[in-house]
Amino acid sequence: MNKSNLTLELQNITKHYYQGEQKLEVLKGIDLQLSGGEVVALIGPSGSGKSTLLQITGLLDKPTKGKIFIDGNECSTADDKLRTVLRRDYLGFVYQYHNLLADFDALENVMIPQLIAGKKPSEVKEKSEWLLNRLGLKERIHHRPAELSGGEQQRVAIARALSNTPKVLLADEPTGNLDPHTSDNVFLALLDIVKETGLTALIATHNLDLAGKMDRQLQLKDGILVDMRPGKRIKEAKNFY
Ligand code: ADP
Ligand code: MG
Repeated sequence: MNKSNLTLELQNITKHYYQGEQKLEVLKGIDLQLSGGEVVALIGPSGSGKSTLLQITGLLDKPTKGKIFIDGNECSTADDKLRTVLRRDYLGFVYQYHNLLADFDALENVMIPQLIAGKKPSEVKEKSEWLLNRLGLKERIHHRPAELSGGEQQRVAIARALSNTPKVLLADEPTGNLDPHTSDNVFLALLDIVKETGLTALIATHNLDLAGKMDRQLQLKDGILVDMRPGKRIKEAKNFY
């Protein structure tokens, strides 16, 4: 892999929690390299550490040990102020629950974070409208969250995550709250726009069919990340045999 093309790199990330006296080792040495434009599925059963890994990658939580590089920037030692800037300029997030602002319409929900970041209102509006149109919400841009279906709300959340033109999209079971049919539609819309915009993405999902549509599938298993491609189970082999 061309090192200079790496958008996201994790080096030996560990994360331990303490529950009273008991040490819980959630991540036991995660190495990950995503090159520009790669769309990768993060799979693993509930409790395997997907959210923990995404929170650490998204600079929302700190690893116990290990290094994080985003677009070549070493982020592990960044202070809170720099982490906020890196999140704002390089990362987009989609969560299971949309967290849209109830008192604002879809367009405003997508625009507000960009306006707060000091971007030019006319450009923000144009970009936000393009994203919402592209996600099939042309007729819904002036609806508030309560006037939108679950799938539409999640599409707005996706548009909001992409509105700052991030380098890396991190999504944590982005359609986990939706019924299977809506989930498939929203997921495919997400993959479509990610591919069109050339984003690098790490997307946690339980759905193996949807995971299969991504470029690579990585499984979190016993705190280790296992590449699901045949012949790539190096870590697993080292740990289990
Ligand atoms: P997943 O997203 O794959 O369901 P999580 O990353 O949410 O998994 O959780 C992984 C493990 O870490 C679980 O056992 C969970 O209980 C534990 N965990 C997560 N966050 C904390 C925390 N802040 N304190 C203690 N344990 C935690
Ligand atoms: Mg989770």
